Amino acid sequence: DGKYGKAMEIVKELEEKCGTPIGKLRQVADAMTVEMHAGLASEGGSKLKMLISYVDNLPTGNEEGLFYALDLGGTNFRVLRVQLKHGGIANQEFEEVSIPPNLMTGTSDALFDYIVAELAKFVAQESEDFQVAPGKQRELGFTFSFPVMQSSINSGTLLRWTKGFSIEDTVGQDVVAELTKALKRQGLDMVVTALVNDTVGTLAGGRYFNKDVVAAVILGTGTNAAYVERAQAIPKWHGVLPKSGEMVINMEWGNFRSSHLPLTEYDHALDVESLNPGEQIFEKIISGMYLGEIVRRVLLRMAEEAAFFGEIVPEKLKVPFILRTPHMSAMHHDTSSDLKVVAKNFTDILEIPNTSLKMRKVVVEICNIVATRGARLAAAGILGILKKLGRDAVRDGENQKTVIALDGGLYEHYIEYSKCLENTLDELLGDEVAKSIVMEHANDGSGVGAALLAASHSQYL
Ligand code: ADP
Ligand code: MG
Repeated sequence: DGKYGKAMEIVKELEEKCGTPIGKLRQVADAMTVEMHAGLASEGGSKLKMLISYVDNLPTGNEEGLFYALDLGGTNFRVLRVQLKHGGIANQEFEEVSIPPNLMTGTSDALFDYIVAELAKFVAQESEDFQVAPGKQRELGFTFSFPVMQSSINSGTLLRWTKGFSIEDTVGQDVVAELTKALKRQGLDMVVTALVNDTVGTLAGGRYFNKDVVAAVILGTGTNAAYVERAQAIPKWHGVLPKSGEMVINMEWGNFRSSHLPLTEYDHALDVESLNPGEQIFEKIISGMYLGEIVRRVLLRMAEEAAFFGEIVPEKLKVPFILRTPHMSAMHHDTSSDLKVVAKNFTDILEIPNTSLKMRKVVVEICNIVATRGARLAAAGILGILKKLGRDAVRDGENQKTVIALDGGLYEHYIEYSKCLENTLDELLGDEVAKSIVMEHANDGSGVGAALLAASHSQYL
């Protein structure tokens, strides 16, 4: 009928506006490469901050001892301890704790006190397998997945929060100093020897196990990437050139934007109503915090303008962020012939119990459109990095493997998304080049990577 037709028009329009034909993806990749150059040329030269990580040596495998890591991402934080023996990880334990939402918009002290209290519990539960050498301080790598302007390997000021965090008094502060003060307040004797972005941690963790890893991409609550750059190719770096000749760059690619990005009215509204309007535009169309919310906004419009769920607009559908990306992915992956999972999510989360199979099919289609756009754009971003590294083409006589370490809950659990990402990168590279580029899941590499970097920057070396 007419109402269904109007609803289908909305879906069709969404599909058109979210289109990512290969030519557009190439434009996005080229724009990414251009912005990378600009961000490396001068501070503030681009939306891409291209932050210097002060990591100029990646793990070698010779790291030894007991090290800790604390990984503060978006949704959860993890504490871990890693016992490193020459050439490998002898022992490893971790704990994951969710961050109470009120702490995400409270005070700096409250957030850091909470984190340190959890860390202190973790340290208190230590078994005999994990003992620090007598007279030595425990050393910690701090994975902090927000934009930080580092001034050394273990200091750096927070530029701004992202991913739903908004704690004004932390912005402009040295996050290691904030953590250290909290450690003091709670009498926990630990020293932060490395401050790393999660992408840098993942790169370090990935390299420890595979020498061909040159870049890392996170697709979790937010999204970001890091890669190994030639120090000579960083005009804005005025310090002494590192002996290795290399420097890991934290791109902060979540803040990438380009006129080539396919944006819709839903994206604009989501952005305007977000805690950080105008920022993190790439992140807002490809990462886990936002995909489900985009789908909700499409469904809401269909309810309002096409009475898709009946004459009354369902109340729950009006609640921002009620439909999370894990719900979306569960619905997208629904293989039952009557789409039971979609029906259940609609009943349980949106309190819409009376969906028809025809409606549920439309819902899956919307999930597919939104996830496909995100995954294909993420692939274009990776192509941008490969171009910058000169690894997007086969060069005569070279047979070098290029490995990209990927991690994050979205990549790990949203299989349709990760499959689409991999297929799109292959499509962009072509068969011959695709053979030399490998995407590897670096499971929880960022925590281990931070511990490894804490080890290689130990105060006792
Ligand atoms: P963070 O990015 O917060 O450090 P993770 O890497 O664990 O943490 O990613 C968590 C995010 O991954 C969640 O916010 C969610 O968006 C996404 N995610 C988790 N599970 C799923 C799932 N089953 N399907 C799709 N996305 C998921
Ligand atoms: Mg994380």
